[in-house]
Amino acid sequence: MAVATRGVLVIYTGGTIGSKPRDPDPDSPQVVVPWKDLEKGHPELRTLKDSGLRIECEEIEPLDSCNVGPKEWQQIAGIIERKYAEFDGFVILHGTDTMVYTASALSFMLRELAKPVILTGAQRSALVDVRNDASQNFITAILLAAPAFSKIPAVPEVCIYFGGKLLRGNRTVKRDTAGYDAYESPNLAPLGEVGDRIAIHETRVRPMPGAGRLFNVRKTLDTNVTSVLIYPGIQQTDLAQRQLEGLAARPSARPDALKAAIVMAYGSGNIPTLWPEWLESFRTARNNGMVVAAVSQCKRGAVELGIYETSSLLLELGFVAASDITLEAALCKLMVLLGEEDLSQDEVEELYQRASAGEQSTSVFLTKYPVKPGVVRQSAGQTGSVRIPGRPIEGGWQPSQVEGALLRFRGAKLSSMKRPPVLFSVYLNLERAEDASKDHPGFAGQFKKEPSTKNDQIILFDVTRVLTALVKPGDRASFTVILDTEGTEFSWNSVELAIISKEVTG
Ligand code: ASP
Repeated sequence: MAVATRGVLVIYTGGTIGSKPRDPDPDSPQVVVPWKDLEKGHPELRTLKDSGLRIECEEIEPLDSCNVGPKEWQQIAGIIERKYAEFDGFVILHGTDTMVYTASALSFMLRELAKPVILTGAQRSALVDVRNDASQNFITAILLAAPAFSKIPAVPEVCIYFGGKLLRGNRTVKRDTAGYDAYESPNLAPLGEVGDRIAIHETRVRPMPGAGRLFNVRKTLDTNVTSVLIYPGIQQTDLAQRQLEGLAARPSARPDALKAAIVMAYGSGNIPTLWPEWLESFRTARNNGMVVAAVSQCKRGAVELGIYETSSLLLELGFVAASDITLEAALCKLMVLLGEEDLSQDEVEELYQRASAGEQSTSVFLTKYPVKPGVVRQSAGQTGSVRIPGRPIEGGWQPSQVEGALLRFRGAKLSSMKRPPVLFSVYLNLERAEDASKDHPGFAGQFKKEPSTKNDQIILFDVTRVLTALVKPGDRASFTVILDTEGTEFSWNSVELAIISKEVTG
């Protein structure tokens, strides 16, 4: 029985799925063919059409995906924008090599997306061999993009379907050059699994945009983003410095200047620490207007900057991080953010740390306090304390999802004439100094800090418990920090509250 549906638009871009041997000799190099030739190799499309599913195709110049980039992303996004109302979903046939980049870029370009956009491709083309993965990948992708026809829940996301798994595109990496199970999403379980049935794991799927939200497309990209691989020995060269400085030269003054560098750091965000001049090259780049972001060389797990004092080095140097985002998604996210010409460097940095398309497991919401640099001293007969005046707390976090709330003093210095540690008491929303007592509901605790001769430190106080108990996003939060140890001096340049919150789905 025919099912009423607006059908699926296939956007064909090339890749192995659309390749066949150039010459009659089956071993000759493969070349991409136009859609009309590819269609002939997939007679299953006819069967689907006969059962009532409308399938149409638009093609861009078919390419090996190593040649696909921002220009093609803009073309694909433009087609989806133009045809959005006419179809239930979209399938993008794509080479496997750069599929995760295209998926990531589209996830940031297509906003308020309420329909499935499914990228797929193949390791072996149906035009080459009857034993192939192209047919299964293609047909299943079409069924995923036509939820009403397939009687499955709609997945309103940019996904990769490949080898039996439906993965969120911006969390996916290519892990295998030849296997039919070529992709994985190391930090997010599949959104769906396909065997004899198509099973969608609805709790992992991002929710539909709210009522009244309108699909819209951002097509301006700024590609002046580079990546720097950290490897043992790089710190004794000036290679990173040359990469960062070569094109940087105050990005604001030159539109083609490098505007962001993604540093592929070790583990949870570590780089060699013993070469101060080398470290300074990152700080200089950042101060010259470049966004310096850290991602991990590990496939699984997150970069955590300044969540513990030990991981503060990169934060002190001005790095930002987006939890467990992949390198591929980080590059695309920055290209899209930098493409918004109204955003300042600060705003790009803030937005980079927040999830916008389910690309990371946690977001950091920063509230910057407009306080001047300051200093407090605690000496006999003089109480040293500082009050950070209340201001509305940023973000769309929910108290139950908060993993940490940290009051951070940046550019800080702590010195003491006494034996360490130095004791601090911290209060949230303390109205009057006289109310300071351990029984006050805003008492966040007494913290022990080590003094240091270093000038430019981050000193942080974990205020998670009181913050999630007493305030919600948009509420005002003031802080009172009291130095409890005599003979100490504490100074800072700026103060911020960082709220680290889990993403609600995925
Ligand atoms: N080089 C090809 C491409 O990415 C590989 C493939 O599609 O599997 O276009």
